[in-house]
Amino acid sequence: MPTRLLIIEDDSASRALVCYLLEAAGYATLEAEDGGTGLHLALHAQPDLIICDLQMPVMNGYEVARALREHPDWHRVPLIAVTAFSMAGDRETALSAGFDEHITKPITPETFVTQIEAFLPHPLQARHSPGH
Ligand code: MN
Repeated sequence: MPTRLLIIEDDSASRALVCYLLEAAGYATLEAEDGGTGLHLALHAQPDLIICDLQMPVMNGYEVARALREHPDWHRVPLIAVTAFSMAGDRETALSAGFDEHITKPITPETFVTQIEAFLPHPLQARHSPGH
């Protein structure tokens, strides 16, 4: 089974780009367009890593991160913020909410997958998994 990444992002163009890059690298993607749906999918679909925007309807990314980190099964899943928030202090705010990394938009397509893979255990990286 391919490694599955959940992308929680309300901007459809950003979501499509991230999914395209990850699928081209050999990953399966799940998508949610708001934080509430994203949290539900995270808890029920068991993704291997979660990419999450911060500014979203229903539940923002900080609320998603805090809810996941409080959940006994999900307090360790790799959780990456991908956000337009790029002011001084925004990175610290994201990390203190429970994110493992904070990547600012616009993403760099040439390096994005490598940035994300740094947070996947080796056997889950597409280039190392059987069949790739
Ligand atoms: Mn947004």
